[in-house]
Amino acid sequence: METNSKVTASHLKRTAYLYVRQSTVRQVFENTESTKRQYALRQKAIALSWPQERIEVIDTDLGQSGASAVDREGFQKLVAEVGLGRAGIVMGLEVSRLARNSTDWHRLIEICALTDTLILDEDGIYDPTEFNDRLLLGLKGTMSEAEIHLLRARLHGGLINKARRGELRSRLPVGLLYNAGGQVVLEPDKQVQESIHLLFRTFFRTGTAHRTAKHFRDNGLMFPRRVFSGPDKDKVIWGPLGVRQVLLVLHNPRYAGAYTFGRGQWAREMDGRKKRELLPPDQWQVLIPDAHPGYISWQQYEEIQQRLRQNAIAYGIDRRHGPPREGPALLQGRVVCGICGNRMSVRYHRRGEHLAPKYLCNRNYMQHGGPHCQKIPGASIDAAVGKLLLEAMTPMAVEVALAVQQEIQARLDEADRLRLQQVERARYEAECARRRYMHVDPANRLVADSLEADWNEKLHRLAEAQDNYERGRQADRKVLDETQRQKTFSLPQDLPVIWNDPNTPQRERKRIVGLMIEDVTLIKQEEITAHVRFRGGATTTLRLPLPLNAWQGRKTSDHVLAQIDDLLKHHTDAQVAALLNERGLKTGAGDQFSSESLRWIRYATGFKSYKERLREAGMLTTQEIAAQLGICESTVKLWHRKGLLQGCKCNDKGDWLYHSPQKNPPIQKFKDRQSLSQPGVYEIAGTTAGGVV
Ligand SMILES: [Zn+2]
Repeated sequence: METNSKVTASHLKRTAYLYVRQSTVRQVFENTESTKRQYALRQKAIALSWPQERIEVIDTDLGQSGASAVDREGFQKLVAEVGLGRAGIVMGLEVSRLARNSTDWHRLIEICALTDTLILDEDGIYDPTEFNDRLLLGLKGTMSEAEIHLLRARLHGGLINKARRGELRSRLPVGLLYNAGGQVVLEPDKQVQESIHLLFRTFFRTGTAHRTAKHFRDNGLMFPRRVFSGPDKDKVIWGPLGVRQVLLVLHNPRYAGAYTFGRGQWAREMDGRKKRELLPPDQWQVLIPDAHPGYISWQQYEEIQQRLRQNAIAYGIDRRHGPPREGPALLQGRVVCGICGNRMSVRYHRRGEHLAPKYLCNRNYMQHGGPHCQKIPGASIDAAVGKLLLEAMTPMAVEVALAVQQEIQARLDEADRLRLQQVERARYEAECARRRYMHVDPANRLVADSLEADWNEKLHRLAEAQDNYERGRQADRKVLDETQRQKTFSLPQDLPVIWNDPNTPQRERKRIVGLMIEDVTLIKQEEITAHVRFRGGATTTLRLPLPLNAWQGRKTSDHVLAQIDDLLKHHTDAQVAALLNERGLKTGAGDQFSSESLRWIRYATGFKSYKERLREAGMLTTQEIAAQLGICESTVKLWHRKGLLQGCKCNDKGDWLYHSPQKNPPIQKFKDRQSLSQPGVYEIAGTTAGGVV
């Protein structure tokens, strides 16, 4: 035989490789015929007198697309074996399918030629070392690639044309369906519709996907999801709503009733892998707004995209226009630098137990590494803006209160309705299960048993749903009764109280600020100027003194200072500190008082020390009184001990001050009595003390 002549003893000594491939998992399941044909090639190898044990099948690539060799372990193994000269022959159904792209294919032929390896397909045997065969193989590869290209182009062209007319069917998200006439309609299931409406409403209210998901979670609400494959295909199942799913719904233009095609683009990466990228709407291949009924308008869809983009930016460097978040800075995201015009960011500093905000223009620093443009402590600005808001809000307070109350009620009703629908669905399913059970022939035990079990389970679910409903209602009633109702009704009068209540979360204050104020422009000069721009265009300018610096921020409070001033009239620093600590008072930084902190406070406030006060009152030092009396210092101390001189300790070092002789009655009396008759010696209560006049 002619083909056999190509097979030599040298080939037969080596292994025969059978490469089996189906590109998709679906082909693996459905295209068994082709798989059978591929395995049949094995018989051919045996016919060509390859021993059975030296025929190796490589089928690890089943279910891998042939578009690139990167992910195809089997193909790489094949190339390696051929390259090492271990292969005598390579077999495959339509050999060009060995490699789907031409580069891989030509490389394989080249290697086969180098290692003298034969190639076999259903048409025959090729010897790549022979020019004619190599040409044929090359052509086969090229044809195969061209075929695929044409096929794809034709298919794609057809698709695009259909898509341009809006007729190409695509997978619809849950909540939308094709009716019998092929038109897109809203899902008839009211619960599904309501849930999707609620998702959009919640997003419009809260502004973030996270809080939308949280609202569902907090209220124990489920969200529908369509099953796209498997035995439950096209069924709607219910489950908890995650942030990812919220985003998928929000980004899907079909909910806005728009028909789209080609929203993404496949980009090939360096290693041959493909990656899908989403394109902006103006680059979509097809966009037909109002093509079918939807849940929101196209305009709302665009608003949502805008909002989501802003939120994304809010997590970036400058966090501009971010949704309110935790952290005390009231004007976070709304402060503009009055010098360069950029948004200012917020930094926090710890001040005792509190976080003190600081507004910072760091654009220059972030982008160019230059110095910060402005740094402004925020506490006083926040306070001033808060005050301004309270003043501005009073006339509107009633309206705000009513709106808030209505919104809370509406939200609770909405949640209640949805939970009730869950109960009704469970009841309906239980009823169906009951009917199925009733209709079955009781003699058919097997079926009856399984239907009974089904009914039981449905009843169990119904009980659960009812429980859940009752629990939710109770919780809602509690929320409304105890806290919200009181707060809401007293809101008109108590708004300032609520605003100033330490239990009010700062996030809520920020939301109020966000509703009222567009932005605040800050300039720091000799004073701080804050231009407040309200939503709606009104502006106000606030002028604030430069805030206290960090040290002043830790200043001891005024009433404590007054007490210190008072105590210093009669006590040394250490004594004052001890007395203050006894009274349970604390320094500005929250510490116990000590003689050091007292010295520091005196320095800062300019309070005179006990000694200075005594000196001002005319008291004399030991040296001074010794000089006046013409006695030595030790005599002064002695006289003091004997009660002749009155004085006191004036500081913690143990220095003494004495009343001047004129104010010292004992020494006056004594001096009068002696009349200085005997200079140098005074007799004091039987003791002689020496002194020179
Ligand atoms: Zn600036």
